[in-house]
Amino acid sequence: MKWAFDILVVGAGPAGMAAAVTAAQSGQHVGLVDDNPAPGGQIWRSGAHLPVAARQWQSRLNASSVVRLQGWRVFDCPEPNLVRAERGGGSPFRNAAAGINESDWAELRCRALILATGARERFLPFPGWTLPNVMGAGGMDAMVRGGLPIAGKRVVVAGTGPLLLAVAAHLAARHAKIVSICEQAPLSRLARFAAYMVAEPAKLWQGARYRMSIPGFSYRTGCWPIAAHGSDRLQAVTLRQGAKQWDVDCDYLACGFHLVPNKELPELLGCRIADEFVTTDKLMQTSIPGVYCVGEPTGIGGVELSLLEGRIAALAASGSIDQAQDLARARRRKLGFVRALGQVCALDPQLRELPAQDTIVCRCEDVRHRSLREHTTWREAKLHTRCGMGPCQGRICGSAAEFLFGWRAESVRPPVFPVSVSSLVSESDGETETLTAASSSPQNFKETP
Ligand SMILES: Cc1cc2nc3c(=O)[nH]c(=O)nc-3n(C[C@H](O)[C@H](O)[C@H](O)COP(=O)(O)OP(=O)(O)OC[C@H]3O[C@@H](n4cnc5c(N)ncnc54)[C@H](O)[C@@H]3O)c2cc1C
Repeated sequence: MKWAFDILVVGAGPAGMAAAVTAAQSGQHVGLVDDNPAPGGQIWRSGAHLPVAARQWQSRLNASSVVRLQGWRVFDCPEPNLVRAERGGGSPFRNAAAGINESDWAELRCRALILATGARERFLPFPGWTLPNVMGAGGMDAMVRGGLPIAGKRVVVAGTGPLLLAVAAHLAARHAKIVSICEQAPLSRLARFAAYMVAEPAKLWQGARYRMSIPGFSYRTGCWPIAAHGSDRLQAVTLRQGAKQWDVDCDYLACGFHLVPNKELPELLGCRIADEFVTTDKLMQTSIPGVYCVGEPTGIGGVELSLLEGRIAALAASGSIDQAQDLARARRRKLGFVRALGQVCALDPQLRELPAQDTIVCRCEDVRHRSLREHTTWREAKLHTRCGMGPCQGRICGSAAEFLFGWRAESVRPPVFPVSVSSLVSESDGETETLTAASSSPQNFKETP
């Protein structure tokens, strides 16, 4: 199948939703592709208990002419104005659950491309991190929103970044017992961050509200889990703070070490990257003309910044440069927070000592720390051990290996997600169709459950 749009947005989190709605309001024919069943991205994915801003953006999207391709995943960007996407995400399990026998794939053409692919959690391996009930902090939050019963369960939340407090507050609201929040950053760095946050009173107040909403927990700084214990599931974690270490009984460990930008698609296109983030001009255009990047691939700064960047890129791509420039000034004022957050979340070098020799680093391919240590580059380790060559394609172990060994992936190649062979070999013939929101259901854009 071949479809064409004026503007194509990849990712329907806050940044992508704002971009798609704004571009459609500017009279553009807009397509919005996202691999989740519903729009909202990391924070607004669940329909229940959504904040007012989320409901407003959802209803603007529903009322717009944006063509939504929910449940479709972009796996290749061969040219700046062409992407390839597959419905069902290539997983036989997911396809079966969605009632899809054969994956659908599509070639999507556009005049301007806006990449709003968000970020994922960084996991660091330590003994026991692959036990059932040890999860990413954001991942656990998503599972609880999806129905995981948590009432009365004892949870340790650990890692780094503001997500820890947000997740703990959400779990506490669902009657989990938060035993401890362990932040790896030292108190001195957190104090500097708090001083900076005086300039961001809304965020400071939000953090304070989160803390006040969690009953009877210990908040520890310069502290992290060094081992998780249990036979068939988690029963306890060993925590370390300075020279002290002790065991804590718990049912769940929610553990994430800040976020890693999803920048595979901009990398495929050759967009310039600096300090692990995609660089853009002030109107969010990357180093490739006609390709914009918004939200967390350009810097971790929270929902409001993502929304703002989405709107700037949409206005710029639609030719409303003056309006885009007005918003760009507001964005510039928020970039200090991005820098301050990056500094406070910088990983303590001692975390490199977390894995033991037999700790699994690549869980897809069962590759242990000892077999990686003998290599000198990511490429060499991949070729000899298959590290990073499983279904997650290095999304989890790649960022861990980068921190543990200082390796960087030398290149990104398509497909950036596992896809079915039929999608890889399909050559599209036939005419490019123009879709409208009205024609985008039910057959072509059936939402996957
Ligand atoms: C539990 C939790 C609580 C949070 N609380 C707060 C808070 O209180 N305040 C705050 O400011 N921020 C908070 N955040 C952070 C906030 O979620 C992010 O700042 C925001 O979601 C970033 O928006 P985004 O659009 O850039 O990315 P995302 O929300 O990550 O959206 C990106 C979307 O793109 C999709 N995608 C990626 N690649 C592809 C592809 N190749 N093909 C198709 N689709 C793709 C993803 O699946 C996702 O749906 C929280 C995050 C979490 C997880």
